[in-house]
Amino acid sequence: MATLSEKEKNKKSAVFNQTFIITFTTFLLLSIMILALRIIVIDTSIDTYAHMFINEVSPSGSILKGTSELDNQDIIDRLLNDNDVIKKSLLANKIVIIDGKVLSDPYNLIYDGFTINKLPFLYKHQDYYYIFVAIQILGSKLMIVGGPAFEFTAFIKTFDRIAIITIFLASLSSLFISYFLSRNILRPVISISKHISEININNLEHRIPEQKTIEYEIISNKINSMLDRIQYGYEIQKQFISDVSHELRTPLTSISGYVKMLKRWGTRDEGILIESIESIERSTNYLKDMIEKLLILNEPETEIEFEEFNIKRVVEKVLKLYDNSDYNFYIRGEDFKVKSSKEYLSIIFKIFIENAMKYSPENKNIDIIMKDYSIIIKDNGIGIAEDKKEKIFERFYKEDSARTTKSHGLGLSIAKKLGDKLNINIEVESKLNEGSSFILQFKNDV
Ligand code: ADP
Repeated sequence: MATLSEKEKNKKSAVFNQTFIITFTTFLLLSIMILALRIIVIDTSIDTYAHMFINEVSPSGSILKGTSELDNQDIIDRLLNDNDVIKKSLLANKIVIIDGKVLSDPYNLIYDGFTINKLPFLYKHQDYYYIFVAIQILGSKLMIVGGPAFEFTAFIKTFDRIAIITIFLASLSSLFISYFLSRNILRPVISISKHISEININNLEHRIPEQKTIEYEIISNKINSMLDRIQYGYEIQKQFISDVSHELRTPLTSISGYVKMLKRWGTRDEGILIESIESIERSTNYLKDMIEKLLILNEPETEIEFEEFNIKRVVEKVLKLYDNSDYNFYIRGEDFKVKSSKEYLSIIFKIFIENAMKYSPENKNIDIIMKDYSIIIKDNGIGIAEDKKEKIFERFYKEDSARTTKSHGLGLSIAKKLGDKLNINIEVESKLNEGSSFILQFKNDV
């Protein structure tokens, strides 16, 4: 079981986050819905309840018939004398307000500044609801009658209790359900991370197994293709080290052989002395050349300074190096401008020209053709077999026919790498025993 690092310990669990968010959202939404329901319920039931209340106070619909000429005092007197009303409103413990004047307040509810902004009016005092309704008296006057709404209070209290229990139970269920769902959804992550932690350099071929869901299948495919790339890179490195070691062994064995020979007879035999020195010189030159090429191949990615220049001048400059050779170079076609690096381009040209010379032992005519924004280095040498055309660009690849002391099998891979950097596409056309053409197509427009 892997232990968590300090940094990991400070992170929150995704399961916890998910559970918290879902539970909190459920709680919030349900509370809002129940609150809205409560408002609607109160709003609709208050009217019904007000009706019931009015009916209770004045079953006939109107109290005190007659003219509205009476002043408040008269009304009070009339009310007090009206047995029915007194029994049903004042004596039945109702608050009575006429024209803003409190005639009766058995609950000590009305205080200075007490306002009733609409009727029927609901007022909550010490856990109890009081209802105020308007009753018309004397034709046009309004009498406000109020009193405790016991049934209504009981109804709201029951509603609130059910609401709290519902919210609590729903949130609790949501907590459990979301916890188990989140854990279930995230379970493949734990399995994938377990597989990843088991992969090391000795079992790089291991892969994450197929996942049941599309999302995790995508992740595991991505990880697997990353592992493919790492494994490929690692194999290449391994192959590279083995190739380098192999390439170093031959010249070093030769050097050590000649040194042994020198020690035994070299000082006495001038022939052996000269042969040994020449052979050691050849081997060290080979090693030096190979190491230089390896350095170019493994050079860290540096910024290339691109400049504009005419291609012919660079070709001519490189060819000058072979003035003393017995090869004939023919530059043909139209010169053109490129945006490239003279330094890298010279290295590339050198590789192709030297190869053309190396693999054309008989016909020593080499053409350098400038055409359609490309340079073709064409020889009339031994050519390359169809099935070898791809392989020749691999590191350390060399044909048996090329196993001379001068051959490393690195030239074309360097040309390819530099070509990629300079945006030059390299292709080969060749026929065995007829010759080869290497086509360098420039892709950088000027
Ligand atoms: P090297 O020339 O040092 O062996 P390269 O990477 O330059 O390494 O070439 C790889 C192989 O490609 C050579 O060994 C040779 O077989 C083949 N090759 C390259 N250029 C030519 C050519 N112009 N004609 C025939 N074969 C060639």
